[in-house]
Amino acid sequence: MAMKSGARPDEFFDELEIMPPEKRETYLGQKLTETVEHAYRHAPAVRAIFDKAGVTPSQIHTVKDLEKLPITRKADLMELQKSNPPYGGFLAIPLEDIDRVFISPGPVYEPIQHAGIKWFAKSFWAAGFRKGDVVINSFTYHMSPAGILFHEALRDCGATAIPMGTGNTDVQVKTMRDLKVTGFVGTPSFLMTIIKRAEEMGYNFQQDFALQRAWFTGEMFPPSLRKTFEEDYRINTAQAYAVTEPGGALAYECHHKSGMHLMDEYITEVVDPETGKQLGPGEAGEIVVTPVHNKVWCLIRFGTGDISSYTTEPCPCGRTSSRLVAILGRTGDAVKVRGMFVVAKQAEQLFSSFDQISRFQVIVGRKMQRDETTLKVELKNESIDREKLADDLSKKFQGMCLVRLDNIEFVPKGTIPEKHEIIVDQRKWE
Ligand SMILES: [Zn+2]
Repeated sequence: MAMKSGARPDEFFDELEIMPPEKRETYLGQKLTETVEHAYRHAPAVRAIFDKAGVTPSQIHTVKDLEKLPITRKADLMELQKSNPPYGGFLAIPLEDIDRVFISPGPVYEPIQHAGIKWFAKSFWAAGFRKGDVVINSFTYHMSPAGILFHEALRDCGATAIPMGTGNTDVQVKTMRDLKVTGFVGTPSFLMTIIKRAEEMGYNFQQDFALQRAWFTGEMFPPSLRKTFEEDYRINTAQAYAVTEPGGALAYECHHKSGMHLMDEYITEVVDPETGKQLGPGEAGEIVVTPVHNKVWCLIRFGTGDISSYTTEPCPCGRTSSRLVAILGRTGDAVKVRGMFVVAKQAEQLFSSFDQISRFQVIVGRKMQRDETTLKVELKNESIDREKLADDLSKKFQGMCLVRLDNIEFVPKGTIPEKHEIIVDQRKWE
């Protein structure tokens, strides 16, 4: 396998990770064509979706072609499974060939066939898990896919996996120490709970434990917490983006930690949730996923409800896939301004990084049929250079949200109430 300079000889898990972009386009196109033909033939729900949209499988060969099809969301799955139990018409293999069935809140029943799940390991491999690692997996092993699928993926990397599941903090601490555990898989907040408990028990975590790496998914991972793990506790961290219904981890960080590489076992689109149209790099929209490795449970264009944007900038690790930037929020928290989604969490992260500001609020209104954005700012110290600050705020906002701020108003202290919405959409009231 050809190695990019700077990469470790065993950096990559498979050849897919380093496909040139043209090869990826061809590869995904072929996989999509096969997936769609199989799904249309064997999954009655998929056939119904196509027929209703007036689309035939022969019209779907490229990622762009997917725009012709509607998005299916969790609420639709629940509805279809209720009216056509138990799998809603999405099962595309004989019942007796199902290996296992997961149950996600709803409930939604998700049948799985074992052979197809090896790709999960990519994400753990990129995070440095190898033979010799002893890893606590603190995800639940029942009903949800997380526990057992991550367990198998750790084994595919050669690591020893300890099926701890959730809770039992004291037992986790003891096991981590007794078995000289080197890796942790779970949520960032739970690892912090374990570390704090170990410290309460009188241990010095860095000296008394062997933990070197942690892999997280399932919740927001604030940069401040990452800094604590990496600098105070010397734990190398990696995060992945996983969604239960389409079958697990979809994107993962490499050691550069600058966004999450998309897996080639899925076609991942970032779209306008209202129109289903695909968005370009840097534009925030809903993550929509089509698994192209899965012949069991055929979800075509599953809408996750999560908002992110992607970048096609090359990553120094040598992987060639696009990367999702951080998950910015849920579709319900986003406000559309002049065609672009602005997410409260994104605005919050941006403005909180300015020390000079104590409170802020973005108002979206409409003037002469055009959306208008106003940023209201309360300053900590009134004597600063407002013109320069306004200029910085304006540039950063446009850089991140791709929407220009029309007005910046410096308002007296106390104008913005202590508890307030980050973005107020006044257009609703007109
Ligand atoms: Zn990378």
